Amino acid sequence: MAVKLDQKVREYTRERYIEEVAQTMSIRAKGAVPMACVRTYGCQQNVADGEKIKGQLEQMGFSFTENEEDADLILFNTCAVREHAEDRVFGNVGALKNVKRRNPSLIIAVCGCMMEQEHVAERMKKSFPFVNLVFGTHVIHKLPELLFRTITDGRRVFERGDDSEDKNIIEGLPIRRDGIFKAWVTVMYGCNNFCSFCVVPYVRGRERSRRPEAIIDEVRSLVEAGYRDITLLGQNVNSYGKELTPSINFAQLLRELDEIPGDYQIRFMTSHPKDATRELFDVIGESEHICHHLHLPFQSGNNRVLKEMNRGYTREKYLDMIAYAKKKIPDLSLTSDIIVGFPGETYEEFLDTISLVKEVGFTSLFTFIYSPRVGTRAAKMPDPIPDEEKSRWFQELLAVQEEIAAARCASMVGSVQRVLAEERNPKTGLMVGRNGGNVIVEFDGGDELVGNFCPVKITKARHWILNGELV
Ligand code: SAH
Ligand code: SF4
Repeated sequence: MAVKLDQKVREYTRERYIEEVAQTMSIRAKGAVPMACVRTYGCQQNVADGEKIKGQLEQMGFSFTENEEDADLILFNTCAVREHAEDRVFGNVGALKNVKRRNPSLIIAVCGCMMEQEHVAERMKKSFPFVNLVFGTHVIHKLPELLFRTITDGRRVFERGDDSEDKNIIEGLPIRRDGIFKAWVTVMYGCNNFCSFCVVPYVRGRERSRRPEAIIDEVRSLVEAGYRDITLLGQNVNSYGKELTPSINFAQLLRELDEIPGDYQIRFMTSHPKDATRELFDVIGESEHICHHLHLPFQSGNNRVLKEMNRGYTREKYLDMIAYAKKKIPDLSLTSDIIVGFPGETYEEFLDTISLVKEVGFTSLFTFIYSPRVGTRAAKMPDPIPDEEKSRWFQELLAVQEEIAAARCASMVGSVQRVLAEERNPKTGLMVGRNGGNVIVEFDGGDELVGNFCPVKITKARHWILNGELV
C-alpha cells in the first residue's frame, strides 16, 4: 500500500490530486456533498491564508459549515504569536476528540503558524492521536496532495516545509473570500526583523515580495468585482520589493495601485517604523484611494527597551516620523501595537510608553502583555516583574488611551465623514460602518447602503464610537 501511495505522490499532478480527493470525499461524505468547517485564529495574514485554504477545498468539491457536527473535515488554521492564542487552539483541538468519537470518518487537520514550531508539531503527534493531518504555513499550496495522502492510506500526515520551499511565491491559488466588499491582498510573506520577542520570523520564514504586476492585477479585478475596501498585507510592508528586480518600493507600489480607476479605498498593514519613509507619507497625502490611516506599531516608548526588542528605531525617530506624517496628512488616523511588561522593563520605562501615547494621540491601540515564545531571544531574558503588576500597568495604559480616544472622537462631532456601511447592528438597529481612519460610525439607513460609501454628519461621540446622520 505504502509503495503504491509513494508512486502516486511522485506521478500525480495537482489537478489529479484535486480530482482524486473530490471523488473519494463525495463517497465518504455524510451528506450530499463533503462539508468542511474551517476555523482561523490570529492575524489578517492568517485570515488571508484561510481564504486560500477554503478556495482549494472548494475546488475539491467541499461546501462549508460552521457546525463541527456536520463536518466531514475540520481544519484549524492556528496562531503562535502569544501563549494565550496557542492555549486556545490546544483546548479547541482537544475538544474535537469527542466529535471524532461520534463521527469516526471525520478528518481533522491543523495548520498555520503553530505547526511550524517543532515542539508543537511533536505535541500534536504524541498527545492528539486523532488529528489526521498537520501542516505548516509554507505548504498551504500543497493541500490537495496532503489531503490525498491523508485519505488514501489512513496514515497520519505531517508536513512542514522550509523557507526554501516557497522562494518562488505560488501565484494563482484559488481564493474563497469571506467578504463581498472588503478583501485582503497579501503583498509579501515572511519577516527578516527578528524582534527579540517575536516568533513570526521563525514560523513564516524570510521576506518574499509578490511581483507588482500580480498585486496590481488582483486589486484591479477586486475593484472591478465591486470590492470597496482592500487591505494590503505583510509583516513589514515597508520593506516590500527589496529583493525584486527591477527594484520597486512600497510607496511606488501604492502609487501604481492608486491609479486603478474606481470607487474604492486601500489600507495596508503592518508598517514597521524602522523602514517607513517620507515618500510613503507623501504618497498617502497625495493619493486618491489610500486611507488616511496608518497602523505604525511602536511597541515601547523607551529607548533601552526598544533596543532590547531589536526594533531598529528610537523614540525620537518615531516621533519625528509622526510629526512629518501629520504635517503631510492633517487628518491622519494613527493606530499602534504596544507590548507591556517586556522582560526587564521597569515602571519608569513603561511610563515612557504612556507619555508617547499621550504625545501622539492614537485613534486606537492594540495592547498586549508580553508573552514568552520558545526560541526567541527575549524568552531567555530575566523577567522579574510579576504578572499582577504587569496587569496593573496594562490597565493604566488602557485608561489613558480610553480618554484620548474619547477626546479624539468628540472632536469629530459636526464633521462629515465618508463611511463605508458594513452591516446592521442588531442591538441598536442602526447601520454600522467605518470611516477611512477606521473609526466606527453608526447611523440610520437602509440595507441597500451596505457596501457603499455614505456621507455621514457626526452628531454624537460615545467613547470610541461615533453616531451620525446620513447627509
Ligand atoms: N509585523 C508586525 C507585528 C506582527 S505581530 C509589526 O512588526 O508591527 C502583532 C503584534 O503582536 C506585535 O506588534 C506585538 O505588539 C504583538 N506581539 C508579538 N509578539 C508578542 C509577544 N511575544 N508577546 C506579546 N505581544 C506580542
Ligand atoms: Fe515580529 Fe518584528 Fe517581524 Fe513584526 S517586524 S513580525 S514584530 S519580528
